[in-house]
Amino acid sequence: MSSVLVIGAGPAGLAAAVAARDAGARVTLLDSGDGLGGQYWRHLPPQRPSRREARLHHGWSAFERLQGRVRGDDGIEVLTEAQVWAIETAAAARSAGGPAIAARVLIGPSDAAGRESRRLTADAVVLAPGAHDRTLPFPGWHLPGVFSAGAAQALAKGERIAVGRKAVVAGAGPFLLPVAQSLTSAGTDVIGVYEASRLPTLARGWLPHPQRLLRTAHKGLELAGYAAHHLARRVPYRLGRAVVEARGDGRVEEVVTARLDADWAPIPGTERTVAVDAVCVSHGFTPRLELPIAAGCAIGPDRFVLVDADQRTSVGGVYAAGEITGIGGVDAALVEGRIAGRRAAGGEAPRADLRLRRATTDLARRIETAHGIRSGWTSWLRGDTVVCRCEEVPYGRLRAAAAATEQTALRSLKLTTRAGLGICQARMCGRTVEELTGADPSRSATDTSDRRPLAAPIRLGDLAELATPPNGDSA
Ligand SMILES: Cc1cc2nc3c(=O)[nH]c(=O)nc-3n(C[C@H](O)[C@H](O)[C@H](O)COP(=O)(O)OP(=O)(O)OC[C@H]3O[C@@H](n4cnc5c(N)ncnc54)[C@H](O)[C@@H]3O)c2cc1C
Repeated sequence: MSSVLVIGAGPAGLAAAVAARDAGARVTLLDSGDGLGGQYWRHLPPQRPSRREARLHHGWSAFERLQGRVRGDDGIEVLTEAQVWAIETAAAARSAGGPAIAARVLIGPSDAAGRESRRLTADAVVLAPGAHDRTLPFPGWHLPGVFSAGAAQALAKGERIAVGRKAVVAGAGPFLLPVAQSLTSAGTDVIGVYEASRLPTLARGWLPHPQRLLRTAHKGLELAGYAAHHLARRVPYRLGRAVVEARGDGRVEEVVTARLDADWAPIPGTERTVAVDAVCVSHGFTPRLELPIAAGCAIGPDRFVLVDADQRTSVGGVYAAGEITGIGGVDAALVEGRIAGRRAAGGEAPRADLRLRRATTDLARRIETAHGIRSGWTSWLRGDTVVCRCEEVPYGRLRAAAAATEQTALRSLKLTTRAGLGICQARMCGRTVEELTGADPSRSATDTSDRRPLAAPIRLGDLAELATPPNGDSA
C-alpha cells in the first residue's frame, strides 16, 4: 500500500487526505493548529465546542463530513499541534526512487519545551499550507488597535473576541465582507467597509463571460448573504476608498479615509476622519511558500507554486493544493485537494473535478483583476511610516538605503536596513519591502522574502536535539 503525507489540514489538506485514502493509500495528515479546518473553518478549540459553529460558518456540514472521515479511519493518522519546521530534500533517495522529501515536525503546544520530534516521509507528499493575509502599510498602522483583517477574524471566529467597540474594515477583495460579518457577530459595531478598487476595475474583473461564473454561483450567493447581513445592520460599503492613516495617543482613536484614483493613489481633498477604536485591514493574500521553496518546487512569475493538471509540482512525488497555487477561495482549495490526493495515491482524478478546477481557476483570475493591489498605494506613505513593524524600519530609511547603495538585491537591502529580519521573518512586510525597494526576486530562487529555511521559530534546545536520532521515521 502506498503512503501519502499531507501537510496542512485546511480545506485543501482535508480533501487531499480523504481522496488519497479513497484511492487506497495510507495517509498521515498534520497541522500546526490545535484543530482541523484551516482558515476557512476556524472554530473554537475542541475543549470548548459550540453548537453555534454551524450558523457561523458556510459549508460547516462539509467540514464535519471531512473531519468525521479523517478522524474515523484507521488508515489516516491525524496529527494536530504538529509544526513542520523544516523540509529536507533527499536527492540521492529520490534518484533511487525513494521518498521525495522528508518533513521535520515538532509535536506539542506551540513553543512548549520538550515537544516530540519526528521526521516524516512518505511515497508522495501533498503540500497544503495555505496563505496569510497581506496588509499594506499606512501612517499609524503600527498603533495598537490596528489589526490585519485575518487576525481580527481569527479572534472573532476562533475565540469569540471582539477587537473593539467601533471598527472599520478596509482593503481589497471579497474577504472584507465575511470579516465584517465576523466582527459584528462578535459584538463590534462596524461603521464602514472600504474597498480600494473602484467600480470600473471591479466590472473589468467580474463582468466578462458571466456564464463562466455559473459553476461557482453559490459563492455569489454567499457574498449576497454577507451583503444582506450588512444592509440589515446599515453597514455602509464604499468603493474606491481606503484607510490612509490611523491616529491616536498610544492607540487608535481615529482613521483618515480618502477616495482613491484607479491606481489607488489618494485624491487630495477627499479625506474624511472617523472615530474608531479598531481598524481591520487586508489587501489580499500571500501564499505560504517556505515549505514548497525548501522542497525545491518551481515558483511561477506570479509567486504561486507551479503545478500541472494533476497538481504535481516540479519535484517528483510532491503535489500542491489550495492557496499556495492561487487565491481562488474554498472551492478551489477543495477541488485541488481532491485531485492532488487522488493523484498522489496513484488514482485518477474524476472528470467533474477537472472541470470544476477550470471554473475555480477562472474565479481566481477575476479576483486578481478586480481587487489586485495597484501601484499608487505607495503615495499614501510618508518618510516616517513604519514598513517593517518587527524591526521598526521606516519607509524613508528603506528608500535612502536603496538609493545610497544602488542595490536591488533583497538580501543586501535587508542586511543594511534590517527590514524583514524580525520575528515574523518578513511574512508581514516582505512583499512590501520588495516593491518599495525595487528588489526583483523573480531573478533569483534564493533572494526572495518567501525563503525561510526554518519554517517556524524553534527553540535552540530542539535544534540541538537534532544531533540525536529523532523518533519515528516514516508516515
Ligand atoms: C486569515 C484568513 C481568513 C480567511 N477568511 C475567509 C472567509 O471568511 N471567507 C472565505 O470565503 N475565505 C476566507 N479565507 C480564504 C479561505 O480560508 C481559503 O480559501 C481556504 O481556507 C484555503 O484553504 P487551504 O487549505 O489552501 O489553506 P488554509 O485553510 O489556510 O489551511 C492551511 C493549513 O496549513 C497549516 N499549516 C501551514 N503551514 C504549516 C506548517 N509549516 N506546519 C503544519 N501546518 C501548517 C495551517 O495551520 C492551516 O491550518 C481566509 C483566508 C485567510 C488566510
